[in-house]
Amino acid sequence: MLSKLPDVGTTIFTVMSQLALEHQAINLGQGFPDFPMSSELTNLVNKAMQDGHNQYVHMNGLPLLTQRIAAKIEKLYHTAVDAASQVTVTPGGTYAIYTALTTILHAGDEVIVFEPAYDSYIPNIEINGAKAIRISLQFPAYNIPWHEVRQQVSPRTKAIIINSPHNPTGAVLTAADMQELQAIAEAHDLYIISDEVYEHLVFDGIEHQSILRYPALLQRAFVCFSFGKTYHCTGWKIGYCVSAPALMKEFRKVHQFNCFSCNAPVQYALAEYLLNEDAYLQLGSQMQQKRDYLRTLMAATPFELIPSHGSYFECYSYAAISNESDKDFVMRLTKEKGVVAIPLSAFYKEATDNKVVRFCFAKKAETLKTAVEKLMH
Ligand code: GLN
Repeated sequence: MLSKLPDVGTTIFTVMSQLALEHQAINLGQGFPDFPMSSELTNLVNKAMQDGHNQYVHMNGLPLLTQRIAAKIEKLYHTAVDAASQVTVTPGGTYAIYTALTTILHAGDEVIVFEPAYDSYIPNIEINGAKAIRISLQFPAYNIPWHEVRQQVSPRTKAIIINSPHNPTGAVLTAADMQELQAIAEAHDLYIISDEVYEHLVFDGIEHQSILRYPALLQRAFVCFSFGKTYHCTGWKIGYCVSAPALMKEFRKVHQFNCFSCNAPVQYALAEYLLNEDAYLQLGSQMQQKRDYLRTLMAATPFELIPSHGSYFECYSYAAISNESDKDFVMRLTKEKGVVAIPLSAFYKEATDNKVVRFCFAKKAETLKTAVEKLMH
C-alpha cells in the first residue's frame, strides 16, 4: 500500500481558502491576518539580505536569535533556559510539533490528544506508527476532563499534547490545569508536547500558562512557538522549539536531516526585532479589540457565541439558524453569503455534529464588518 495516511485528505484550511478564492468570499476560515505586518521587520530582512546574510546559519538556529529567544523567555516566564542546548529554530510551529512527535514515538506508543484537535496532531502521531487516544474537551468551555485523562493513561502512553490558547476553540489552560498535568505526567512518566503558538493572544487580563513557567514540566516537554502568529507573517513559516537539553539533543537529530537550518536573513531580522518588546507585549490588547469588535457585530446575528479567552479564533453555534451539518453549513455560507468559516467537525477524527463553526478575527475592522453584514443578508 502506498499511503501511510489512508484516512487523511487535504487539510480543511487549504480546502476552505481555495473555496474562498473560487467564490470570491471573505475568508474568516484559515487563520492568517489580512492586515500588513511591521515594515520595520520587513526592512530588517531586506537589510540582512543586503548585508550578505544569505548562507546557511547554524542548524540549531542563528545563535543571536536563540539567545534573544532565551532572554524573552526569562523576561516573560521567569525561567532560565540555555539557548545553546535548549532552543532550536524551526520552519514554523507545526514542524516543531511534528519533529517532537517523531523524536519520541515508537510504533505502538499511545499519545493523548484532546478533541477538537488541531488537524495536524493525529496524522503526525499515526505516521510514526503510534496511536492517538482521543479525549473530548468538555462543552461549552472546552475544559480538559482530567479524571478521564487519568482513566485513559495506559502503560503504552508516551505523551500528551496540550494546546493553549487552543485552536479552534480559544480555550486557555489555568494554573490548576497545569498542576493536574504535572501530577499525571510525573506519575506516568509522560512527555508533553505543548503547542503555544498563540502565547501572546490571551485576553481579559488572563496570564498565559506556559509550560516554561514550570521548570519540572519543561524537563519532559517540547514547547512549540511561531513567529508567524506573533508578528503577523504566517507565510514566513518560522518558529522555534524549547525543551530540556537531553530531549533537545534527540530533537536535533531528527531536525538536522529534515530541514537542517532555517531561512538565514529572516533569523537575523527576528534577532534584531525581538529587542522591540512592545511589538509582542501589545499584541494581546490589539487582538482583543478585534475579538471584541467581532463579538459586537455578531451579537446582532442569530449565531451564538461560545466564549473563550484566547487565540485568534472564536467559535459560534449556528443551531438557531440551521439543522445542516457543519460542513454543509459552511459550504452554503461560502456560496450564498460569501463568507468562509471552518466547520468544527474538521477537528475531530470521527463524525461529529456539534453545529459549531470557527471564525478568525485577525482581520481589518472593515473585513469583519463586511463579513458580518453579508452573514445578515
Ligand atoms: N493554523 C492555521 C489555522 O488554524 C492554519 C495553518 C494551515 O493552514 N496549515 O487556521
